[in-house]
Formats: sequence, C-alpha cells, structure tokens
Amino acid sequence: MLSQAQREALVRADLAARSGVLDVVHGYARAVWVGLGSWRDADVDRFVSQVVPTVRAGQAAVARTTDTWLGLATGDGPAGLVDLHRGLRTADTAEAYRRPAVQMRYDLSRGQTLQAALAASLVRLASLVATDLQLANVHQARRSLASWQGGYRRTLSGASACALCVIASTQRYRRAELMPIHPGCSCGVEPLRPGGPDGQVLDAATLERLHRQVEAATGGHDRSGRDLGLGTGKDYRELVVTHQHGDIGPVLGWRRQAFTSAADLAA
Ligand SMILES: [Zn+2]
Ligand SMILES: [Zn+2]
Repeated sequence: MLSQAQREALVRADLAARSGVLDVVHGYARAVWVGLGSWRDADVDRFVSQVVPTVRAGQAAVARTTDTWLGLATGDGPAGLVDLHRGLRTADTAEAYRRPAVQMRYDLSRGQTLQAALAASLVRLASLVATDLQLANVHQARRSLASWQGGYRRTLSGASACALCVIASTQRYRRAELMPIHPGCSCGVEPLRPGGPDGQVLDAATLERLHRQVEAATGGHDRSGRDLGLGTGKDYRELVVTHQHGDIGPVLGWRRQAFTSAADLAA
C-alpha cells in the first residue's frame, strides 16, 4: 500500500515521464517537417514514413509508463500493453499526419505567406503528436484498470491544465469510461479505491484558478450569479460536456461551444 506522499510522487513521475516522451517525439517531428524545405507530395510521403514510426514508438513508451504507474497505484502490477499496432485513431494514422500539409496548402491558396503557413502547419502537427500520445495514455489506462473494482480520477499536469480538465478532475469516473480528452490534453489517471466519496473538494488555490479560467473561457460570467462554490460540484458539471469526436473518441467541451465535427478534424 502506497503512502499519500508516494502516490503524489508517482503521479508527478508519470506526468513528467509522459511529458518527456512528448518533448522528444514532438521535437523530432517538428525538425523533420521544417527540414523538408519543400512540401510537395514526395516530401510529405517522406515525412510520414519517418514520423509515424516515431509516434508509434512514443505511444509504446507512454503506454509502458502508464501501465507501470497504474500497476503500482492499484497494487496489482502491470497489466501488459494495449494493442497500439493499428493505431488508436479511427482514421488512418499515416493519413492523419498529412493534415499539416493540407493545412499548409490551404493557407498558401488563400494568399498567406510561406512563413505563416508553415507556422500554422506546425501548430497542427503539435496537436497531432500530443493527441496521439494522450490516446495511448487513456487507452492503456482503460486496459490497465480493466479488473480494477474502484473508479478513477483525472490528474492534472501542473501549469498546462485547462479549466475543462480542472473541472473534470473534480469528478470520480467509472473505470469502464474512457477518460474524455481534448487536443492538447496531457492529464493522467489515478485509480480511486472502491466505495470512496463521490464528490471531491478542491483547495482554495485551485478554486481561485478555476474561477479565473472559467471566466476567461466563457467570456466572463458574473461570479456571484453562479454558485461555483465547493460542495456538490453540480455547477461545474453543468459547464462541461463530453462529445464523441469522429476520430479520437470522447472529447471534453464547454456546453455552449460549437463542436468540431468529423468533417473538421482539429487533431
Ligand atoms: Zn484540458
Ligand atoms: Zn487535460
């Protein structure tokens, strides 16, 4: 049985390890993309053939990290790796990694400079890599917790956690649910003992940060008009919904936000 301090250290180690893999894979993909110098079909083919195997290797590294951490957290040991071979998107992974090129051609066709088009394609590429590594994390978590009798919660990755994820982190999920993510999400999963309390109390600093993020994300609500106080968490849940994304599965979103359809893949 892990002490609370040991659990916290392992949560941080899990986040740091996944973030390290992301830095390496993203850095490589970015260098290959920029290094192409020209982005004709043959160049894009070369990019895809170099980068997709690296993303797969990164997914395997993330899955191993997740399985190791969850095996320690549950006390049940590693469950073995989820099948990453076919990729975790419903769309073909190789096709997905052509999207930076599609983005770039579209921007150039609209008269943007090469520099601006390249910058936009790099944003698209960063989102692809981060989302693919996070898919490995959440699919592995579901496999690693397959026989776990408790629930789980979302663990936040420090400074980069957004308001959606802070809100979601206050909830207890059932283990059968795949953790809903969004492009750029790097949250982790922590198993919760069976029979634990449903509501989780946020500390004052987290609550204050959440108020600021919700105000920024929703265009500034009258704080006094909404009960975002501690307690049931009911009001947080009313702000956040889970959508089914055409390519990557359950995705967190604001209740009033227009949803990215399968025809308009952001990730
Ligand atoms: Zn988030
Ligand atoms: Zn997140």
